[in-house]
Amino acid sequence: MTKVLAVTNQKGGVGKTTTAVNLSACLAECGQRVLLIDLDPQGNATTGCGVAKRAAVPTVYQTLIGRSTISDTRLPTDFGFDVLPANRELAGAEIDLIDLGQREYRLRDALTSVRDDYDFILMDCPPALNMLTVNGLVAADRVMIPMQCEYYALEGLTDLVATLKKIRANLNPQLEIEGLLRTMFDPRSTLTQQVSGELEGHFGEKVYRTIIPRNVRLAEAPSYGKPVIAFDRNSKGAQAYILLAQELLERRAGSVTAKAKVAAVGVER
Ligand code: ATP
Ligand code: MG
Repeated sequence: MTKVLAVTNQKGGVGKTTTAVNLSACLAECGQRVLLIDLDPQGNATTGCGVAKRAAVPTVYQTLIGRSTISDTRLPTDFGFDVLPANRELAGAEIDLIDLGQREYRLRDALTSVRDDYDFILMDCPPALNMLTVNGLVAADRVMIPMQCEYYALEGLTDLVATLKKIRANLNPQLEIEGLLRTMFDPRSTLTQQVSGELEGHFGEKVYRTIIPRNVRLAEAPSYGKPVIAFDRNSKGAQAYILLAQELLERRAGSVTAKAKVAAVGVER
């Protein structure tokens, strides 16, 4: 069952953090136990859920270098989920990890002790394929790829798929794409429609039905340190992330039913 999800795309500004924060809040509202891990030294996911990144010590940085456990680092948010915070200090992890053994596996190993505390663990990855992202991809069961439907998006996607293949071959054989999420969607643009169609053609059911529209409330909510459902619940952005959480839960239930069916057929035979 998918539990650990890396929200990733090496392209910047495509809606990774917005998705990680808002999906965490919506899943929590659906009764799921959620941990959000901020893997980006920008610390936007941390502030986006109301945690002051400057004051946050220890952070995921101390976890990665083995100085603090996840239990000692995670913080509860006001929105029903926990966050493993990050701040600029995390930028140093790249260098500090060089001297440490098993450096690609450090987050995965740290997570073992808290895996059972959660139904979902979401990771907000930085816009780069660095050691932080690699740690995220190695710890993940699946990846969620937010993308804007624009001209260069498909090119970027090809690079990302190649990267995932490498990670699968060398570090995490279980890694799969959970889904592609169309973000900042503007249905009036012909190019957007075209790219969206191509995406569905190539990736079929891996493309989420739910589409995240361009919505100013989604851009405003982080400055209040709130996920959008706590800021303007009736906005189109909030409604879209609620639907995304429901789609994720449906998919999970579907795959459990499918597995149960396979098991039942096995028993009948
Ligand atoms: P980075 O690569 O820098 O980490 P990111 O992929 O995490 O960026 P976000 O920070 O989530 O992207 O979004 C980039 C900007 O676009 C932010 O200012 C955010 O508030 C805004 N934004 C994200 N999604 C939407 C949306 N659906 N509608 C309007 N604005 C959005
Ligand atoms: Mg981000």
